[in-house]
Amino acid sequence: MTEKRIPFNQPYMTGRELEYIAQAHANGHLSGDGQFTKKCQAWLEEKTGAKKALLTHSCTAALEMAAFLADIQPGDEVIMPSYTFVSTANAFVLRGGVPVFVDIRPDTLNIDEMKIEAAVTPRTKAIVPVHYAGVACEMDAIIKIARRNNLLVIEDAAHAGLAFYKGKSLGTLGHFGTYSFHETKNIIAGEGGALLLNDLSFADRAEIIREKGTNRNQFYRGQVDKYTWVDIGSSYLPGEVIAAFLLAQMEAAESITGLRLKIWQKYHEALASLEAAGALRRPVVPQDCQHNAHMYYALLSPGIDRRAVLAEFERSNILSVFHYVPLHSAPAGQRYCRTHGDLAVTNAASDRLIRLPLWVGLTETQQNKVIEALRRAVKSA
Ligand SMILES: *Cc1c(COP(=O)(O)O)cnc(C)c1O
Repeated sequence: MTEKRIPFNQPYMTGRELEYIAQAHANGHLSGDGQFTKKCQAWLEEKTGAKKALLTHSCTAALEMAAFLADIQPGDEVIMPSYTFVSTANAFVLRGGVPVFVDIRPDTLNIDEMKIEAAVTPRTKAIVPVHYAGVACEMDAIIKIARRNNLLVIEDAAHAGLAFYKGKSLGTLGHFGTYSFHETKNIIAGEGGALLLNDLSFADRAEIIREKGTNRNQFYRGQVDKYTWVDIGSSYLPGEVIAAFLLAQMEAAESITGLRLKIWQKYHEALASLEAAGALRRPVVPQDCQHNAHMYYALLSPGIDRRAVLAEFERSNILSVFHYVPLHSAPAGQRYCRTHGDLAVTNAASDRLIRLPLWVGLTETQQNKVIEALRRAVKSA
């Protein structure tokens, strides 16, 4: 068998990345906050409507900045799902905060907004909704709970670039939103991210935290006459080579989303009969949500053995993966976090979910092979 393996993900290049990197090189400004960074930030502000966007070197970095801005003190609690990537929790643990996990909804696998308020205590500082697969959490309800309890809302929008809730960009509904441009996301820079600020009262401190605790940005703008250490902070800004790469991706962002949506839709149509036969459940996208085809997943029905399904993919030379190991069951999650209520939906999703290959350039032939392998697998599993 010489047939080529179908990878789970393959980074897509728009064709202009190297040209922009050459320009950054010619500009002679390679550290952060040069022309390309400014263009990327302007693009984010224009496309999302965020009041201010700051490029970071990852979504993890943007979440860490949000934890600084939320002024998390040791023992402060932050409510979030357990069904997420480690950085959602780790960013707050680094400040001494305690992630408090509540269960997710069975339909979207997003945090169950009905379970949030019961988890609020006098130590709660923030709610961190994660827009799983680029499908929005129930933000109206979450924002109401946050207002009633005087909490900050930090959206982990790592999956959610160019996805919307009631016409508004994800990442712009809470106080802060965090984006990822990791190679596995829709729009990429290798490693990269952004912090969106939707309340400008945090803007000065955000710039300072990102610039090692200094007021360098204010100094460059002539607002202060010397540049000095004024607060705690770290180095969260990417260099211009990363920003140059990212700008090329941003310019093609709408077409990338469109191509991904076509692939997503084909899976969705093809899997309808398997859903009708009771073998699996397809993703649910509520009416108010416009998703971005970040991911195509299926939840296998209880009678179907996931290991057997993955083995069939393996035999067919297709790489399919699953995630997440829920954070409450991970060693560091047990050490640093707590749960509120049972996490039955989280545990079930973690045991039964599979993700199918989805990347720009996946051919129809390849996609048909994936679909056929899945059909064979659920029949024999
Ligand atoms: C990818 C991801 C992150 C981390 O993004 P990086 O840019 O790799 O730091 C955080 N949260 C979620 C939900 C993610 O999927």
